Amino acid sequence: MYLVLLGPPGAGKGTQGALLAKRAGLVKIATGDLLRAAVRDGTPLGQQAKGYMDSGQLVPDEVVLGLIDEVLAAPEARHGVIMDGFPRTVAQAEAVDQHLDERQCGVDLALGITVPRDELIRRLRGRADQEGRSDDTPEAIRARLGVYEEETAPLIAYYKGKGILAEVDGVGTVEEIAARIDEALGQ
Ligand code: AMP
Repeated sequence: MYLVLLGPPGAGKGTQGALLAKRAGLVKIATGDLLRAAVRDGTPLGQQAKGYMDSGQLVPDEVVLGLIDEVLAAPEARHGVIMDGFPRTVAQAEAVDQHLDERQCGVDLALGITVPRDELIRRLRGRADQEGRSDDTPEAIRARLGVYEEETAPLIAYYKGKGILAEVDGVGTVEEIAARIDEALGQ
């Protein structure tokens, strides 16, 4: 199963994606994790990405599309993957579709996790205190939420148009949200 996790930063995609991966026996791949590792390792990709990430902007499609192709072509993604943090633009969504189409498969479901903006800001500030991510500063948090609205939220309509969007309320306990996700998946 190819599942896209959609939602603003702080919606709980990472947490819920990891739990769902365990329940469904799928791998979860997060481009944010891969990019952070590339920055840590000082690879050419990391060097290109760092400035964008620190300021809360998206890494440009030209840079990320190669990474997405690599992720989808990896052996562990052969039978499905939970996509966390990608696609993030319509161009990326089209690239994912094209890649999977070439293998006679496609995105099965896009799962949108909805959380009100003030709750997102509260969560992201809390995470900044705990994890100290370089893009959890107040300015970067504001930028990331704005970028989500402008560049990623259109994917909700994109997947709705394909008839494969399911939306779940992302406010509640981890267990409550996990149960809503299972319901949306028909499990
Ligand atoms: P995340 O951990 O998903 O919140 O991603 C952290 C940062 O990595 C984002 O703010 C972007 O700068 C960058 N990033 C992660 N995934 C993507 C993507 N698919 N396209 C562009 N930038 C990305």
